[in-house]
Order: sequence, then structure tokens, then C-alpha cells
Amino acid sequence: MEQKKLVFSFEEGDRNNKKLLGGKGANLCAMTQIGLPVPPGFVISTEACLSHLAQKRKGLQPSLIKEIKMAMADLEKKTGKGFGNPKNPLLVSVRSGSAISMPGMMDTILNLGLNEETVDGLIKLTKNERFVYDAYRRLIQLFGSIGLGVKDEEFDAIFEKIKKKNKAADDSSLGAGALKETCNQFLKLIKDNTKKPLPQDPYVQMEIAIEAVFRSWMGKRAIDYRREFHITPEMADGTAVNICTMVFGNMGDNCATGVAFTRDPGTGENRLFGEYMINAQGEDVVAGIRTPKPISKLRKDMPGIYRELEELRHTLEKDNREVQDFEFTIEKGKLYCLQTRNGKMNASAFIKTSIDMVNEGLLTEEEAILRIQPDMLTQLLHPRLDPKAKVEVLAQGLPASPGAASGKIVFDADKAENQAKLGEKVVLVREETKPEDIHGFFAAQGILTSRGGKTSHAAVVARSMGKPCVSGCDAIKINNLAKEAMISGEPLREGDVITIDGSTGNIYKGIVPTIEPEFVEDLLVLLEWADDIGELQVMANADTPEGVAKARTYGAMGIGLCRTERMFNQPERLPIVREMILAESPEERQKSLDQLIPFQREDFKEIFRVMDGLPVTIRLLDPPIHEFLPSDEELVNEINHLKDLRETVEGMTELPDTLKLLAPEFLEKYKATLETITQGLEELKNKHLAETLISSKETMLQKVKSLSETNPMLGHRGVRLGITYPEIYSMQIRAILEASAEHVKEGGHIIPEIMVPQVCTLEELEWVHRYVTTIHKNVEMKYRIKVPYKFGTMVEVVRACMRAGRLAELAEFMSFGTNDLTQATFSFSREDAENKFLPLYNEVGILQHNPFEVLDIKGVGRLMMIAIEWARKTRPDMKVGICGEQGGHPEAIRFCHHINLSYVSCSPPRVPIARLAAAHAKLTEKEYVLF
Ligand code: PEP
Ligand code: MG
Repeated sequence: MEQKKLVFSFEEGDRNNKKLLGGKGANLCAMTQIGLPVPPGFVISTEACLSHLAQKRKGLQPSLIKEIKMAMADLEKKTGKGFGNPKNPLLVSVRSGSAISMPGMMDTILNLGLNEETVDGLIKLTKNERFVYDAYRRLIQLFGSIGLGVKDEEFDAIFEKIKKKNKAADDSSLGAGALKETCNQFLKLIKDNTKKPLPQDPYVQMEIAIEAVFRSWMGKRAIDYRREFHITPEMADGTAVNICTMVFGNMGDNCATGVAFTRDPGTGENRLFGEYMINAQGEDVVAGIRTPKPISKLRKDMPGIYRELEELRHTLEKDNREVQDFEFTIEKGKLYCLQTRNGKMNASAFIKTSIDMVNEGLLTEEEAILRIQPDMLTQLLHPRLDPKAKVEVLAQGLPASPGAASGKIVFDADKAENQAKLGEKVVLVREETKPEDIHGFFAAQGILTSRGGKTSHAAVVARSMGKPCVSGCDAIKINNLAKEAMISGEPLREGDVITIDGSTGNIYKGIVPTIEPEFVEDLLVLLEWADDIGELQVMANADTPEGVAKARTYGAMGIGLCRTERMFNQPERLPIVREMILAESPEERQKSLDQLIPFQREDFKEIFRVMDGLPVTIRLLDPPIHEFLPSDEELVNEINHLKDLRETVEGMTELPDTLKLLAPEFLEKYKATLETITQGLEELKNKHLAETLISSKETMLQKVKSLSETNPMLGHRGVRLGITYPEIYSMQIRAILEASAEHVKEGGHIIPEIMVPQVCTLEELEWVHRYVTTIHKNVEMKYRIKVPYKFGTMVEVVRACMRAGRLAELAEFMSFGTNDLTQATFSFSREDAENKFLPLYNEVGILQHNPFEVLDIKGVGRLMMIAIEWARKTRPDMKVGICGEQGGHPEAIRFCHHINLSYVSCSPPRVPIARLAAAHAKLTEKEYVLF
């Protein structure tokens, strides 16, 4: 049987086969094949790595060794040098390189081929003893640590001592003698540690080095990196090994080494960007031992080479059709290119270069769109921490709403509001938040909670406002009464300044500088291209006129979810909502609803005005109504406090008698003042204010207790509430239809979509539909115009998926509420899972992702597919969307495109990301693999 070829020279390797040759290897082949100055070399394939790792025996397979030796003979021919030949020694580098770049994760050994004999030979040849010992000490350290497992720090310690002894500030000031001494001490270190000298046979060196690079693929660093960045075996399996002739940038002042980008990776500007060092080796640039010079200075230092580099950058870009990050070395006035790869840049540079490269004819619009990962745009849409800031993390919670914010700690929403009015920047810190805290959200720069997950009230509200939020930070213990908190054991008081980073969940003490977001013109152009390509409509979840206006600026094509309960969250509305809940009879409740309807109608009108001509989906009240009341714990505390106050007042009225007994002289001295106070207190007592307040709080407490549920998320909420309290839904339906009628009368165009939450059965839908038809008739009569509308349902319980065909008889549209549907599918509580067991599940790999964040395609997605299939059997043109948090994530968007959803809806700041992701989904639909 013919042996599989495992070794490929740079001339013969297939540049397109990165899986076989690794990214670095394939690029070296590509550069060689288009005639760029790459030092000769060859690639040992990833297949060789995998079969080596699979074998039990030690050492490389004989067939592989044979191929390597043939390739080395070829290299000797090309360079005119001999491997291990003291007269003209060939030195090579051994570098790892897998299909996906894993910077710094695997190993590299330089100057292989040096031994006692070739060192002497090279000195004779170069007449440069310093250079040769410098090269030798680098080999010994790299080979000793990577190949033989001697600790790197031990080499470093020796080197530091020698530098100290020689009073050398850095490596370059050491002379040949000191470097020779370094080599000798390094060699001794190896012998002491391994009980053997450094192998002198260069082929033995090479075999050990290759084995070490193969092994590094399964090193802890590399495994962790692959797990962190979700690099699967389909993407990269095994590392290739690149053997390349050494060229030296440290042979004198006509030598240099450097790294460069074909465009500025910070701004995207189209100019050569990089750094170089005269008389140095590549690793010196990386190690930061000496300060490199900006590449513009090379124009003066080596004008000819600078021109060559300019040419090289154009050739590299044209060939790769991507910004390149490349390494070069200048050996005795000759330029070599040692490596090239796609440049990593920040989001704004990516966007600028995309637009420029399309204008330059280098890329098509589609290619320009595909080179930007949608999630990257996050960088541009929120203020973020200055990466240059040196800071220590105090604690970590869940990254619930991206962006960074600094401010003084406040523990309640009223205080947040008052402080903000005084111009203070505050961060609202709560155990968890409730609708009544909403004014605190408006006032605060950011929100931090010790409880709740990424779909908790705090998280969802903050996201909809585009405010940074860290939720579920267990390390915080809040003492509301004392107005202080312990964060990771550090006591912090109200007024102390903290910074939260909602993109990472990190919390810092003090102010950490931030960088403001930029919504640049280039991004707008790019997103317009994306909209032309994408088929999925991108809607926003927004519930207030301000939120909707913001969504529009992000390019939302409509509102996919308006959570109407959020409209009650304003200081002047909440007391009316409470009255409505506390009402004893439907008539009494109606009175409160009559007060609420103008607010809702006006908000809807404003929303319709902003979204004129676009779809607006309005969901009827969803959460259990007790969420609008204070918790029983809070009420009990308040009642006790009021009772204490009452007793204090009573005690104060007896003060003159007490003084008479204990200190008559005081009574005499303050008689007049005391009389005024006791009179005032008597009056206060007679008004029975405390009693009234206590009694109203006690009534509220009773109500809270009667409404309390063991499992509110699975309890009296959504359509169940709408059926038991028909007045509430009727008020909302009327507000929607009247706002719509008024908007139409004013010349606007709107077809509101009334959506019913938590539906399980067609009968529930029918029930609400009856309210709608009656009110609709009424409104049309009142306004004397046609008022179009659509009626639809959320699909967020498992039964709704199973009965989607029946629901579609009445529902004209459907929206998957994947927050609840995920909860229902997994039977994981939305409120508890994310800060209890999910992190461990993710860490140990039981679940790859948090399903409340990344759509669980295999489970929840499967249910969605079934539901769509059945719903469209009943109603083939059924409009179907998704409005759970997952709907704004690129992977979910790819899936939603694949299963023919009509739209995705997400929080406003994710809209640009979703627009780009919708275009990606269309452009990559052929490669999509389900499950
Ligand atoms: C959902 O369940 O996905 C949804 C959007 O509704 P909410 O998060 O308001 O329950
Ligand atoms: Mg829901």
C-alpha cells in the first residue's frame, strides 16, 4: 500500500488546504508559489501530528523520518548549506501552526542545527562570535524548555544573573564572552536536569523538537484555548510543523526584523503600519526587550527595503484579499517574509477596511460583509472600558447588558433619582429590581444586582434601555438599612464609586476610564448592504416611545415585542396600577383602568408615529400582577417601622410628665417649647395618620399574601390573567385600537398586531379574540373609520408548539418567546438557573452554552420547527418571528433563517448585530448544517 504523503515543500503544498497544512504552512506555501521572498522550507502535515499522537510508541514513525530527511536534503540543495555541516551549517526553525490561529498557544524552536561543531564552524564563517553565541543560547533555552521540559524560569534566572554581573541593561549589550558563558551555564542546567547533555546530532534535535510541537497540540494551554473559543475538530485538528531555513536579523546593522500590517489595525487607514528593530531577532520584538521603531523610520534607515515592503504589502493583500499581519527579516540587506496571516483588528478598522476594499475593487460587498463577525459590532455600540486601564477586578456577576458605567453606589431607586437630579452619576445596586424601581433605571448609569439571571427584570429592562447591567453577583451582600454592601469582603458604603462592565460581568472599585461608542458613517453603509442581502426582517423589543425611537436609530424594521406592562412602570402610573390591583370589585377596578387608558393610548400613538408604516407587535399584560406590589417582607418592615414611630409619638406627648418627675428644672426651662411640641403631637395623633397608613399597608399586605404564588412564572400570568381580569385586557385592547384609529385619522399608516402571551389552547385565544372583536366594532363606530389590526399569539409554552396548527386557525401571526420556551423545555427556572447550576454545567461541559442566551437549537429549536411546520399547514403565509433574548444572537439568526422565520426581534442595541447576522445567514445558507 502506498504511504500517505506527510511532508510538503513550500513549492508543492496546497495553499487552500489549511486543515492539512495549518494556516501558517498554507500561507508560506502560497507566498512561495507567488514568488515572494520566503526562506526555503517544508510543512509536516496535521495528519502526521494526529497519527503520531495516536501511536503508543515513542519517537517519530520511520516513514515520517524518511520523508523529513528527503525534504532536508532538498533544503540543503536549495540553500547550498549542510544540516550539521560545520563548514557551512544549515539552521532551521521548527514552528507549530494549526488550521485556526491560536496565538502563543503552541511552541516554536529556533536555530536548530547548532551544536559544538557547527557553532565553531559558524564563527569561522561569519567572524561574528557574538551573533553565534546569541543564536546558540536561544536554541538551548527553547530546546531545553520545550523539547526537554526544563523550566523556562531557570534559564531566565541564569540569564538575569549574567546580565547583572555584566551590568547589561538588556540582551543587546552583552558581549560574546557573556553570551558564551550563558551557553555554558544553560548546557549545564540541561545536563543537571535531564542527566544527559544537549543532543549534538541535529537530526536527534529535530526529532525531539517535532515531537514536542506535536505534543503541544494536546497541552493544557492549547486545549483550554480551543474550549474557550469553541474550536472544534472540524475546524482544526492537530498542528502542522513548519521547518524553515533560518534567516537572521541580528548579524549586524544591515540586518533587522519586524512585524507589519498591510493597513493600520487601529483605524483601518490604508498605509503600511508596523515596527522594526535593527540588528535583532523576531522574538526580541515580541518580548519587548528593546523598544522597536515605527516602520515609517525604515524609509530613512533602509529606503530600498522600505520600497520592497510597500510592494510586499500590496502583493499580500491582493493575493489574500484581506488585511495581512506579516513578519519579516532583513538579513544583510535582503528582505525575507517569514509569515503572513489575516490581521486582527478592532471593529471600526474592520468596517473602514471593508468599505475601502470594496471601493478599491478588492472585495465584493458580500465578501466585505462576511469578513466582519456580527458580534464584533458590540464594541461600537456601547461605551467600553479603556483596554489600556490597569485595574483589578473586585467581583464578577453575569454580563447582563453590555457597556461600562461608573458612578456612586446607591441602594434605592428614589435616591438614584435624587442624586441624578443633582448631577451625580450613580450605579443602582439592588438585590433584585422591580417595576417600581424604573425611575432608578432612568437615573442610573448602570445597574448591579446580587440576584437574578440574564433574563431577570434588571437585565431585560437595562438591555431595552441600552444601559449596562451586571446581574446575579453572589459576591455582594447588601445591607439596605445600613446603606452598605460587602463586595468580595470589601465594605462599600453608599456614595463610594464603582465601575461595572456589563460586557464581562466584572465589577471594579473606583472609576475605570471608558471609551465612547461611535456609530460611524461607514457602519451605516455596511448595514445598508446587509439589509439588501438579508431575508429575515430585524425588529426590536421596545416598550416606550423613547425606546422605540432608539430602536429606529439602530435600524429596526418594526417592533417585534412591546411589553405593555413596562408602560405602567412610571412614577405617576404605578400608584394607579396598585389601586387597580387592590380594587375590591370590577367597578372599582374599572375606575383605575379609566385613569390608565389615556396613558397607554398616548404611548401607543407616539410609538405608531415613530414606526409609521412599519409593523408594531403589542403584547397584552404578561407578568403576574403581584409584581407591581411591594414584597411582603418590605411591607412587614414598613408596618413595623410605622408602629415604632407611632409609639415614639405617643411617648413624646408624655414628655412633660416624665420631665416633671425626673428633672423639674428642665421642664421649667423649656416649658414653652415643650408645650408647642406636645400640642403639635396631639394634633398629629388626632389625625390618625399613622393608623391610616398602617391600615392601608396592612390591606396591601393581605393582598400581596393572597396573590402570592409558589411558582409565579408558571402561575397566574399572561392570558390566564387576561381571562380572570377581563377589564385589564379590554382596557389595553381599547387603547391600542383607539390609538390606531387616531393615528390613521391623522393620515398615518399602521396595522397594530395584538399579541396574547402564555397561550396553551385555542380556547384561550378565542376568549381574548371575543374581547377584541367587540371592542374593535365599538372603536370603528366611535371613530367612523376602518381600523385594521392583526391578532396573534406568543408561542412560549410547549403545548402551544404542539398545538400550533390549531392556534393558527385564529392567530394571524406567531412569535416564539424563547425565554419562556427555554424555561419550559428544560424545566429550568429562568430566575434561578443562571446563577446557580448553569455555570457549573457549562464549565464541565454538560451544556455547551447557557440556553437562555444561546438558542438551544437541538431542543427548543426542534420544537420551533415542529410548530412552524404545523402552523403553516393551517396558514401557509403565517408570519412567524422570535422575540426571546436569543433572537439577537448570530447563531440563532442563522437557524431562524434556515427554518424560514419571517423576522427576529431583539433589544435595540443588538439590532445592528442582527442585521449583519441576517445577511451572513443568507450568504452562508448553503454551508448550514442543522444539528
Ligand atoms: C419570552 O418568553 O421569550 C418573552 C419574550 O417574554 P418575556 O421574556 O417577557 O416573558
Ligand atoms: Mg415570555
